[in-house]
Amino acid sequence: MARIVMKFGGTSVADIARIRNVARHVKREVDAGHEVAVVVSAMAGKTNELVGWVHDAGKAEGSNLNIYDAREYDAVVASGEQVTSGLLAIVLQAMGIHARSWQGWQIPIRTDNAHGAARIQEIDGSFLIKRFQEGQVAVIAGFQGLAPDNRLSTLGRGGSDTSAVAIAAAVKADRCDIYTDVDGVYTTDPRIEPKARRLPKVSFEEMLEMASLGAKVLQVRSVELAMVHKVRTFVRSSFDDPDAPGMSDLLNPPGTLICDEDEIVEQQVVTGIAYAKDEAQISLRRVADRPGVAAGIFGPLAEANINVDMIVQNISEDGKSTDMTFTVPSGDVAKALAVLERIRPEVGFDVLQHDDGMSKVSVIGIGMRSHAGVAATAFQALADKAINIRAITTSEIKISILIDGPYTELAVRTLHSVYGLDKH
Ligand code: ADP
Ligand code: ASP
Ligand code: MG
Repeated sequence: MARIVMKFGGTSVADIARIRNVARHVKREVDAGHEVAVVVSAMAGKTNELVGWVHDAGKAEGSNLNIYDAREYDAVVASGEQVTSGLLAIVLQAMGIHARSWQGWQIPIRTDNAHGAARIQEIDGSFLIKRFQEGQVAVIAGFQGLAPDNRLSTLGRGGSDTSAVAIAAAVKADRCDIYTDVDGVYTTDPRIEPKARRLPKVSFEEMLEMASLGAKVLQVRSVELAMVHKVRTFVRSSFDDPDAPGMSDLLNPPGTLICDEDEIVEQQVVTGIAYAKDEAQISLRRVADRPGVAAGIFGPLAEANINVDMIVQNISEDGKSTDMTFTVPSGDVAKALAVLERIRPEVGFDVLQHDDGMSKVSVIGIGMRSHAGVAATAFQALADKAINIRAITTSEIKISILIDGPYTELAVRTLHSVYGLDKH
């Protein structure tokens, strides 16, 4: 007998027929004698709809600015998962399985107070372990938590992955299966590169980079948690026939295993290509070149919860002033510009420019640590397609390149092919 946490994403629970199919996956594991807890997302598109309503409600009449209380955002958007958890429990019960739905606050999944993007702080596993002992399948609403102010919180978009891994860690599950609409983690998003290949295993480090650089197949925090708590996490498809042979293989189910680097025998130089659309570039010209300037700029942006990414500071030509360029998600541009205008008198800069509609494409691979020339290959390949590079950042295992949005697909395919990732 094993203890398994099964998570089903939005497309997997998009309607009642799919929820019935999910229930067959759950039944398979229950019939195999395992202890099972299930985590569900809202139906596909539901969270977007709820977020849209919040934005509309927050818009003052005649204005484009939408201002709303993040606690109420959470009250609204957490509702999508409440619906699917109840529906799946009903379907499971009808199949004769002892199932019960649980909301985040009932477990409780305790988070911090950062409404809208809360971090899980504590889950007392004993609540769920008791359910296992009663032979119950707990169907848990993903994405939800309980904040210290005693109100509902949500974990940021894609947060049900994190709910599942955190629960798996709390109950010391043997496995956490993330069921989605693709049958594993691919060398790049299979939606934009049909030649992408499924990876049997991906290291935690690479998955962390892929997720934070745009591959939304797993939420970044879920990978962090899986890495820290050594949760055996598989990404697999809910669209596979639930009763196909091998589906309940305990050690090697179909899908991609996220694991320690040393479990991967054949290491490639480049493992995958990720992309993030909707980036914006902000440039400050003639910023005073003195100690404390970067802190003076990026401190207030961080306080405003703006996620600053690629930062490039030019060498000062005259020793007095320099240029500073960085990227933020497009949705944060207005907020960032407002912060920068506020601090302009203090920091001192001349021109403030911004460019929307950029994309960041990234090349990821642990093998880069020991291989030279990986970056040069990317730059040449993009140059050959006349794709202009706006900014570059690198780390030990990744290269990120900022380009104009319309070239995203072409850049991803070009890089995928130049590193030999295409399937033959
Ligand atoms: P869910 O609703 O199940 O949480 P998501 O839409 O959040 O599913 O994530 C699955 C999607 O992630 C896939 O449909 C795919 O388009 C996208 N994706 C992006 N990069 C990758 C990748 N490298 N491998 C697999 N899927 C990827
Ligand atoms: N329903 C939430 C979202 O769409 C959480 C999730 O699906 O993981 O972001
Ligand atoms: Mg997701």
